[in-house]
Amino acid sequence: VAQNPAQPEFHQAVKEVLSTLRPAIEENEKEYRREALLERLTTPERVIMFRVPWVDDKGQVQVNNGYRVQFNSAIGPYKGGLRFHPSVTLGTLKFLGFEQTFKNSLTGLPIGGGKGGADFDPKGKSDREVMAFCQSFMDELYRHIGADTDVPAGDIGVGGREIGYLYGEYKRLTGRYEGVLTGKGLSYGGSLARTQATGYGLIYFLEAMLKENGRDIKGQTIAVSGAGNVAIYAIEKAQQLGANVVTCSDSTGWIYDPDGIDVTTLKEVKEVHRARLTEYKEKRPNAEYHVGKGVWSVKCDIACPCATQNELNLDDAKMLVENGCYCVAEGANMPTTLEATQFIQSKGLLFSPGKASNAGGVATSALEMSQNSERLSWTFEEVDEKLHRIMNNIFANVSETAKRYGRERDYVTGANIAGFVKVADAMNAQGIV
Ligand code: NDP
Repeated sequence: VAQNPAQPEFHQAVKEVLSTLRPAIEENEKEYRREALLERLTTPERVIMFRVPWVDDKGQVQVNNGYRVQFNSAIGPYKGGLRFHPSVTLGTLKFLGFEQTFKNSLTGLPIGGGKGGADFDPKGKSDREVMAFCQSFMDELYRHIGADTDVPAGDIGVGGREIGYLYGEYKRLTGRYEGVLTGKGLSYGGSLARTQATGYGLIYFLEAMLKENGRDIKGQTIAVSGAGNVAIYAIEKAQQLGANVVTCSDSTGWIYDPDGIDVTTLKEVKEVHRARLTEYKEKRPNAEYHVGKGVWSVKCDIACPCATQNELNLDDAKMLVENGCYCVAEGANMPTTLEATQFIQSKGLLFSPGKASNAGGVATSALEMSQNSERLSWTFEEVDEKLHRIMNNIFANVSETAKRYGRERDYVTGANIAGFVKVADAMNAQGIV
């Protein structure tokens, strides 16, 4: 804490992981306590911070803070998204980069952990302003990334439009047409099914978790938060599998739609118009719109937080339990506070941590990297099938690891230990670096 002041989210993420590693460390003290392994694991290899000046539509110069946290490259090149949101600080990106290291390890693919972004808010900006910002951001970032060193992707506030502008500027500066970013458009090296991957992957993971516990997603009522990339495709896949998803939310309000969220309308409002959820309500008169926070007050069997960190707190968890919810599957990164996670687990609910259940996005990004290296494009079905297999494998690994350490059905411990062991072994093999 003294070394990283004012970074509460980073402290929270480290505490959550370290508190569950004890059984693995005690079993192999000699390996996992040597040469300050844990200190190195919790310290980023490199942090790049830079100024991002750009000119708005009024001709005024604006300045934002840009970052790239290259957290851990023990098992592969740094890989992780870029977040553009006014709340972004170095602490946020360190927490995300730390989590990413374990998540990427869990995918079974050769990718290290990184994260980046800026305190820039794309909301309400014109396309030209977003382009000017992305170009300026890349004017510094390009010298630190590359197809074999660090491959950023999207995250909150960074979707197809932003990735396109970033890619164009990288190409202009370096003259290289390479897979340096993922989440690219299909006309310039993107992968089919990447857009859907995190949301679909979450539901594939959820299905596997329910199956192990003798349940089925069909017919279940699900509360989802968020209305962005992860939420939209989680809702779509859950409904394809016969569930009834009744909520979604954005940063200003939330929707309760008893008939089930209409994904076509949601995509039109969020992906096409980039509008607020009040527009969804206008198009679906049976739905309710509420200002502020509140999706967790709804009666549901399963809750899928898919918006942002710490959006599900202890009071929310208590409401979910009172309303009969038996499962929480995280789509966002660290959306549940530590106290809420502990409460949920103590009440015997099934709980999947984001680093396992939302790993489908980065796994599919790694599939995009493979296609770029091979100069090939796989079909939607091929990518989706691989994603499904990867999510089943992650679940099996997490579940087996939990059992092996006497913590059956504790998927938090299972995910943290399984992710840790591979990275720790690779770090030890590579010496003190
Ligand atoms: P988007 O920007 O597409 O959507 C985010 C959604 O969450 C929006 O509806 C947004 O509302 C809402 N939101 C964001 N910040 C807040 C906040 N502070 N309070 C309330 N609501 C908020 O992002 P993604 O869907 O890509 O990401 C969502 C989560 O999933 C993040 O935690 C991200 O790190 C994680 N994730 C994403 C992956 C991906 O592939 N995209 C992969 C793995 C994890 P509004 O529209 O009003 O901004």
